[in-house]
Amino acid sequence: MHYAVTSRGDETSNALQQKIKNYLNEFGLIFDEDEPDIVVTVGGDGTLLQAFHDYAHRLDATCFVGIHTGHLGFYADWMPEEVEKLIIHIAKTPFQVVEYPLLEVVIRHFGDEKSERYLALNECTVKSVEGSLVSNVSIKGELFETFRGDGLCVSTPSGSTAYNKALGGAILHPSLATLQIAEMASINNRVYRTVGSPLVLPQHHTCLLKPLNDVDLQITIDHYSLVHKKVKSIQCRVADEKIRFARFRPFPFWKRVKESFVGD
Ligand code: NAP
Ligand code: MN
Repeated sequence: MHYAVTSRGDETSNALQQKIKNYLNEFGLIFDEDEPDIVVTVGGDGTLLQAFHDYAHRLDATCFVGIHTGHLGFYADWMPEEVEKLIIHIAKTPFQVVEYPLLEVVIRHFGDEKSERYLALNECTVKSVEGSLVSNVSIKGELFETFRGDGLCVSTPSGSTAYNKALGGAILHPSLATLQIAEMASINNRVYRTVGSPLVLPQHHTCLLKPLNDVDLQITIDHYSLVHKKVKSIQCRVADEKIRFARFRPFPFWKRVKESFVGD
């Protein structure tokens, strides 16, 4: 089996990364950053987000597992103290795989035939660089509303505990192949009207955002942020691809939610 280990880059994570490499080599696994079967991340959820994007071109052949050197994470849910146990698992036992849904984002620009396609593990957010975002929101090809406000956040179920949660979105179990649209401070008065609640769309229901004014947009895909000019549309739907996590022990999602947000 081929493996890679990534680190957040701090001293603790780097030391643990080296330790994992040593152990896995001793067990006869092959270090292979280009084509790993399993990617172990050491750091936080952000470290796993980065690894996801580094290996997004070969998701069907890659499994992820995350170790947290800080607080408990949603993607990084193994403790450093458990590393030995985890390594023996990786080396000696066939592991189960759980798949989580992803978000597909296609951005089209005026005067450009080509579109840009992205996959997000957490979410895509859209804001205007200057002033409010004014955008039509269509669902399944039908105009749903004209949004005016700070921005919109379209998240995956596993991303629902991240930015989406801060916007009052619901926490969704990652077994649900859905996307969630959450508003950022919509303007609601006699002139402008939006639904005001987060919306959850099933697979194959496409959400299309069409900006109405010619302003530059700040579009994020997970931790990546880019300014886009002359945006014609941003199309979001549940992706065909999934992320695969190596599962060695049960750690139910709701337990992670409880331990992260409610306490013991
Ligand atoms: P960051 O600024 O370090 O991330 C913000 C926090 O979100 C960190 O504590 C991070 O955990 C945590 N996080 C990431 N994914 C999560 C998930 N699926 N569930 C629960 N918590 C999660 O930047 P980053 O680590 O590169 O993460 C990028 C993410 O930050 C974005 O995808 C977005 O969801 C989130 N964000 C949130 C807000 C907000 O809540 N107002 C604003 C901007 C961005 P770690 O410390 O373990 O990395
Ligand atoms: Mn982070």
